[in-house]
Amino acid sequence: MRKIQMVDLYSQYVKIKPEIDQAIQEVIDSTAFIKGPVVKFFQKDLEEYLGVKHVIPCGNGTDALQISMMALGLKPDDEVITADFTFVATAEVIALLGLTPVLVDVDPDYFNIIPEAIEKALTPHTKAIVPVHLFGQCADMDAIMEIARRHHLYVIEDACQAIGSEYHSTDGSIKKAGTIGNIGCTSFFPSKNLGCYGDGGAIFTNDDELANMLRGIANHGMFARYYHDFVGVNSRLDSIQAAILKVKLPHLDEYISARQKAAQYYERAFADIPYLKLPVRHPKSSHVFHQYTLICNGISRDDLVNYLAKKDIPAMVYYPVPLHLQKAYKSERYGKGDFPVTEMLSANVFSLPMHTELDEEQLQYICDQVLEFISRVK
Ligand SMILES: *Cc1c(COP(=O)(O)O)cnc(C)c1O
Repeated sequence: MRKIQMVDLYSQYVKIKPEIDQAIQEVIDSTAFIKGPVVKFFQKDLEEYLGVKHVIPCGNGTDALQISMMALGLKPDDEVITADFTFVATAEVIALLGLTPVLVDVDPDYFNIIPEAIEKALTPHTKAIVPVHLFGQCADMDAIMEIARRHHLYVIEDACQAIGSEYHSTDGSIKKAGTIGNIGCTSFFPSKNLGCYGDGGAIFTNDDELANMLRGIANHGMFARYYHDFVGVNSRLDSIQAAILKVKLPHLDEYISARQKAAQYYERAFADIPYLKLPVRHPKSSHVFHQYTLICNGISRDDLVNYLAKKDIPAMVYYPVPLHLQKAYKSERYGKGDFPVTEMLSANVFSLPMHTELDEEQLQYICDQVLEFISRVK
């Protein structure tokens, strides 16, 4: 059996090696390392894939979020509502810009922000909502957009884990994650569902004016050469990464179905195990399974993860500490017990290996070992 990895980037590369190697070589031969034509070509391909008017490539997913908030003109003391259960980047950029992160709890089935909790957290200072489509499934965007419309708020979707996921709105439309709010953000970090071979990210919007602003902010606040109208940042997707992504994008849908197949395998194996709560599919969203995350119910999560590690199965905990209990994000506003779902999840979730290259032998071995652990402790 091949060694089991949390993410197997090498096996994925080998399958498309000639195309990737050629694409990289072409950039080197052209020496157009920054802002080469391939960045625009990839941008156009991604716009078409997502069905969105503008893609603005940038340096990484964190920058994408930061540039979005800068482009919306959010000012110190404006409040931005986001989920307590997420990767830190989401709250980090809010805090970095001097805005106030307002955290709310998530749903125990879908791991995503609860619209009713957003409503309760609104104040006259609230300016934006940042739903995170965690683990590959869209947050309840109909409800979130409705709250935003009613209270004149911006919506920035953190779609770093959900590129390609589809949201089926009650109005009958089907939209890709990140193309529903005012702005969407994604990351091309190597282990993400569409990963490059270094850092990369992108911002999506259907708004022409915002697109112009986002491009300017990402380029030193420069709109005409050497005229700087705003304080900006320097955040670019380099040409080699764009060339790699251009090769990989046509494979994204098959990558997604490979992940979904692995998820189905896990689902069948654990269907009748009361000690494990499986990921619940949201009726309005497809699931692209950036992570396959289960909740331990009556067994020790840490013992299970350690047991699996001894059997050469990497399992990870995303995320072990809720944002409101992180040292950097502690605030008088929040204390232990304030976000019971997130606290429960942080103590009990674990994610099994999930990537495009898992074969049946590996999946069976992983399932057998999980079941073996459970049979021993129950
Ligand atoms: C990965 C990730 C980010 C940040 O992306 P980087 O490219 O690593 O900066 C932000 N939010 C979420 C939810 C992520 O998973």
